[in-house]
Amino acid sequence: MRKKIIAGNWKMNKTPTEAVALVNMLKPLVANDEVDVVFCVPAIDIIPAMEAAKGSNINIGAENMYYEESGAYTGEISPAMLTDAGVKYVVIGHSERREYFGETDTIVNKKVLKAIEHGITPIMCCGESLEQREQGVTMDFIRQQVKIGLQGVTAEQAAGVVIAYEPIWAIGTGKTATTEQAQEVCAEIRKCIAEVYDDATAAAIRIQYGGSVNAKTAPDLFAQADIDGGLVGGASLKEDFGKIVNYK
Ligand code: PEP
Repeated sequence: MRKKIIAGNWKMNKTPTEAVALVNMLKPLVANDEVDVVFCVPAIDIIPAMEAAKGSNINIGAENMYYEESGAYTGEISPAMLTDAGVKYVVIGHSERREYFGETDTIVNKKVLKAIEHGITPIMCCGESLEQREQGVTMDFIRQQVKIGLQGVTAEQAAGVVIAYEPIWAIGTGKTATTEQAQEVCAEIRKCIAEVYDDATAAAIRIQYGGSVNAKTAPDLFAQADIDGGLVGGASLKEDFGKIVNYK
């Protein structure tokens, strides 16, 4: 039985002071040990958010990480910086990073490998554009993103990875994919994992849905056989996130 994982992606929101206030506000609302709760926050908020979350069930995660150990990479955050701060999860390959910062599947793969090497669980994002959906190439495109993203990852390692299926047309738009659309793609991702690895790895890997998830849509989405939780943007900054975490 896979444990659900519900992660907030704060994106470029909340100063350190605001981050502490938000963690304190949400702490009692997300107290649910039946699911893994992760707040992926801007790098500068990691340490204060971690302090504020102490003693609660909230895991503080990062939104990005570089694939080198250290050195002349101005502005980047290394895996050791994250682990030293206590980070256990990192979002890799969010569509906004792919679109605005030129992240390719190959870069995503390097980051996934490096995160695993450091014992950080990657939340590896994939998702098609509206154009790709309309052209009927969604499944081929997602399969390619997943296969390249996991190149060189062993079956044992892949079982611990989290994949977030986030159709780009549903992110920040208020347009949630229908439950059927979300389940269909998440099932296809699991099938792809079974083909690349084996049935046991496919049964173990956790696959989230993301894209305008809110308190109303979460119960149906998270009840699907292949949807093991969500990656939540906008609604993770509000009280609503408490309802999403307690979706049952
Ligand atoms: C996201 O940032 O990953 C996301 C899904 O955003 P939103 O929930 O706001 O669509």
